[in-house]
Amino acid sequence: MTTAKNSPMPVTDQDPRLRVLNDQPVRTNGEFVLYWMQMYRRPNDNASLSYALQKANEYNLPCLVYEALRPDYPHASDRFHTFVLEGARDTAAELSRCGLRHVFFLPKTPNEARGIVAKLAARAALVVSDDFPSFTIPAQNAAAASRASCCFVAVDDNTSIPLALFPKAELAARTLRPKLNRVLDTWLRPLEQPEPAVAPPMGLDLPFEPVAFDRVDLAALVASCQIDHTVGPVADFPGGACAAATRLERFVARRLSGFDQDRKTLDGGSGLSPYLHFGMISARHIALTARSWGQEHGLSVDAFLEQLVVRRTLAFNFAQANPDHRTYEAIPQWARTTLSQHESDPRTSVLDLTALMDAHSPDPLWNTCQLDLRLRGMMPSYLRMLWGKLVLTWTKTPADAHGILVYLNDRFALDGRDPDGYANIAWCFGLHDRPFPQRAIYGTVRSMTSASTQRKFDLSDYLGMERRWRQELGL
Ligand SMILES: Cc1cc2nc3c(=O)[nH]c(=O)nc-3n(C[C@H](O)[C@H](O)[C@H](O)COP(=O)(O)OP(=O)(O)OC[C@H]3O[C@@H](n4cnc5c(N)ncnc54)[C@H](O)[C@@H]3O)c2cc1C
Repeated sequence: MTTAKNSPMPVTDQDPRLRVLNDQPVRTNGEFVLYWMQMYRRPNDNASLSYALQKANEYNLPCLVYEALRPDYPHASDRFHTFVLEGARDTAAELSRCGLRHVFFLPKTPNEARGIVAKLAARAALVVSDDFPSFTIPAQNAAAASRASCCFVAVDDNTSIPLALFPKAELAARTLRPKLNRVLDTWLRPLEQPEPAVAPPMGLDLPFEPVAFDRVDLAALVASCQIDHTVGPVADFPGGACAAATRLERFVARRLSGFDQDRKTLDGGSGLSPYLHFGMISARHIALTARSWGQEHGLSVDAFLEQLVVRRTLAFNFAQANPDHRTYEAIPQWARTTLSQHESDPRTSVLDLTALMDAHSPDPLWNTCQLDLRLRGMMPSYLRMLWGKLVLTWTKTPADAHGILVYLNDRFALDGRDPDGYANIAWCFGLHDRPFPQRAIYGTVRSMTSASTQRKFDLSDYLGMERRWRQELGL
């Protein structure tokens, strides 16, 4: 990179964030450049949008931003639909202010959902999509690219540094950290977002009725979709780039200086993970904001960047390098061996998915965390480790425990269905970790107990929520 430090960075054709997913040419007589906004649901600081706009300007075409939400992806519910639609309302308003056309398709049934990208791609010069190494996105991008009759490019804007710079699976944070540090200054820079040169295609004939965000009742819209209505929205976490910006601002002003000490308490953390998961804020923007605050105040923000840059990139590297990262088979061999040697160790109780989902474990702290997750879609960051580790002690096999954790996290966590979740659940089973002294059930995988966690800080108020949350959920 030859550009000056801190000058906005364009997304060029040679950028390592780009992957061309088919061998079709650019359709020179296309009507528009299509940006299919799937994972970076934000109007600014978005590498896919920057690239799409740059190409649209180069071809002298308008850029059409297409966003959709299907009813049939795994665990689709009121919780995630509400969050995404609130975000799309922000995106629509901001893109229209910037002179861009944004159209949102909300199919109510799986049947309605089919074939729209292919129809739009048939009229596009180029399709630009968001890259994401997990959940339904890799298959979705591959299928759409193979059907598209024009060039289809996926752009990686998941972490602060392009994932392609680390193509091999990293062993642990200690192997990735020095590699990241070497390139951080090159990549941790603001992004250039070109102005659209060609007016938006207003009179466009669309193969669906776009959502009119200025006059729609979002709750009624969500209620009309064929999704899981038993997992409700979370009022504490409104979706969207505006809510994400407010949360970041508050976190930086009030909590960033104490992040390292607060991290291991109930109040630790920025609470930005749902916004990061749905791409309503970029990891780059958060890192740049934190770094410049640190420079301004002469304080280190390394502890926060360790989570946001190192741990997050490590999780995405795990997902990218292991196509089976959502399964128990992705756990390192040493850990699977020791866990299987302890499979017949006696358990105090053996519980199934329903018992755990309804928070009927023998551990009150675990139950409170589970109720929190079910009701609010979150739990304190530090308790997440305990929540993950303890399930091993209540299932017949470690593979059962892994499957249950992935299901619960994906179904209820606002930030679930994400490499951060899959890598950290796998961490509970030994991934990116080292062997510890032998313990029952865990073998040499690091163990945790509720008693030791409760000795570290006062959890009485949190534990006191169990009854109320159980009642609210009708359990
Ligand atoms: C069992 C288990 C399940 C988890 N499931 C998820 C999940 O579904 N989605 C998710 O985003 N995170 C998950 N995590 C990782 C971590 O707990 C969350 O990222 C964190 O709690 C989010 O809160 P925050 O945004 O306040 O984090 P902060 O502490 O403010 O950190 C800022 C950001 O850094 C990243 N980060 C922080 N900790 C980690 C970590 N250990 N690994 C990777 N990235 C990290 C996240 O993107 C986070 O939003 C899980 C952890 C465990 C142990």
